[in-house]
Amino acid sequence: MTIIQNIDQQEVTKFSSLASHWWDSNGEFKTLHDINPLRLNYIMQYAGTLAGKSVLDVGCGGGILSESMAAKNANVTGIDMSQEALNVAKLHLYESELNVDYKCITVEELSDNNPASFDVVTCMEMLEHVPNPASVVAACHKLVKPGGYLFFSTLNRNAKSYLHAIIGAEYILQMLPKGTHDYQKFICPSELATWIRNVDGEVIDISGMSYNLLTQNYSLGADVSVNYLVHSQK
Ligand code: SAH
Repeated sequence: MTIIQNIDQQEVTKFSSLASHWWDSNGEFKTLHDINPLRLNYIMQYAGTLAGKSVLDVGCGGGILSESMAAKNANVTGIDMSQEALNVAKLHLYESELNVDYKCITVEELSDNNPASFDVVTCMEMLEHVPNPASVVAACHKLVKPGGYLFFSTLNRNAKSYLHAIIGAEYILQMLPKGTHDYQKFICPSELATWIRNVDGEVIDISGMSYNLLTQNYSLGADVSVNYLVHSQK
């Protein structure tokens, strides 16, 4: 594992190699497409209308969440360290006719130059892919305006999440490519909450995103044992 700044180059390379599949709603990123309406609703439930708000999407990949927020008339900036994913994201704007400002920059570097400049910061399914997730959480809090809204999502770390997210999703159901996730890097809600409080953020809500095998649908609820969302405020 090469760490240059807060980047695991192997992880970024993995996402780069899959980049062309980003907008295939039945491909490698199907799960992200499937959960997107849920997380967009969750964001709007707490942040209210996104119209006219400045939003930063950290680890935006091919732009699934970024575009959906732009479609709600937010002014979205998307950042990622995979140039290939960003290239796909930029190309997709021709198809969607939406406007998103995509940049290849780390959240830490952006936060040094632009503190307190966004109404909303989202960071979804990214923390479990970086060497130092607490540093990302801190930079996200630095970037949001006082009173601004932050949204994180990641995978819990316990026997059930190992079974569901790795054995189930990667090996049995093959919903995700093998090697997508590294169990050691999964994050307990209490750990994420501690990193938020350490930078004087307030944890407003923690909700689970559960997958129902029978209906093959995701739903929001109290069960945070596998996928979960966290909303905090500055
Ligand atoms: N947030 C998007 C994509 C999640 S996939 C969504 O939920 O739809 C994880 C993304 O994190 C990939 O695009 C990967 O390139 C990116 N990533 C991994 N390490 C990163 C880092 N250190 N800085 C920025 N992005 C990173």
